[in-house]
Amino acid sequence: MTTAADYSLPSGYTHVHSGKVRDLWRTPDDQLLVVASDRISAYDWVLPTPIADKGRVLTALSLWWFERLSAVAPNHVMSTDVPDAVRGRAMVCMPLEMFPVECVARGYLDGSGWAEYQAGQKVCAVELPAGLVQGSQLPQPIFTPATKAEIGEHDENIDFTAMSATVGKRDAEELRRLTLTVYSTAAEIARQRGVVLADTKFEFGTQASNPGKVILADEVLTPDSSRYWPADQWKPGGPQPSFDKQYLRDWLTSPASGWDRHSGDAPPPLPDDVVERTRDRYLQVYELLTGRTLD
Ligand code: ATP
Ligand code: MG
Repeated sequence: MTTAADYSLPSGYTHVHSGKVRDLWRTPDDQLLVVASDRISAYDWVLPTPIADKGRVLTALSLWWFERLSAVAPNHVMSTDVPDAVRGRAMVCMPLEMFPVECVARGYLDGSGWAEYQAGQKVCAVELPAGLVQGSQLPQPIFTPATKAEIGEHDENIDFTAMSATVGKRDAEELRRLTLTVYSTAAEIARQRGVVLADTKFEFGTQASNPGKVILADEVLTPDSSRYWPADQWKPGGPQPSFDKQYLRDWLTSPASGWDRHSGDAPPPLPDDVVERTRDRYLQVYELLTGRTLD
């Protein structure tokens, strides 16, 4: 997909790719400029209405986490010295060969993990004890990889054996180790700030010059890639209040939106109050975790 950008960069930057949320550019010295837009996606659609400041929140939060996690995982960030047009919502990164898997860690049961558990007491072939409910904490965090779907397609959970067949056993083991280590480190930090990190997704890659070293890439631990819950309201046995797009998803699937998510039609523009409340949730979790306000 190529999305028309709402900014322009100096000459020497070439557009490489636009995902649902990010635009990737090649910099004049052959690094990668990753620009987080204010686009928001839900149910595999990019919505027609942006959320103001979302790109800045995602970037600032990812940078905050990369710094805190640097002792447990090397990351792709090289600099935040970026062109004025994208200042605050972009970072210069190493261009990596990405592993074609979403590396998911779950410490709690919800989403596709909860759905799989109900169907067979397992998630991605990891056996779990009986009697867990939606929102339960797992006995220990589990690694539940997924395929990386094209835009408009669903990611699909796969088991460790299938993942090993794609990336090789040695890399699969390293991806699992890093995913669980980074998750546990981050979950502990979040917990100290009153936030439960229920689950999260990482993407990793390698440099052609050093294929043995696995590097943490993409965004990390943002509300787009993670389920964050207020710890003081955690109550297993149903959906939890969360710091992500749940408000937006609830509106989209309510009669008020007039949208049928199974119709194949694009979702409607968002009303101002839905934009505002969604924006508030992003800012709130950023402030809770980092103790900073977005400047
Ligand atoms: P979504 O996150 O909603 O599933 P997406 O992943 O397709 O959508 P974005 O997050 O918007 O899209 O785009 C970021 C893209 O950049 C992803 O394809 C990701 O794999 C890729 N990427 C992230 N870091 C690097 C890197 N250092 N080198 C190369 N590609 C990267
Ligand atoms: Mg992404």
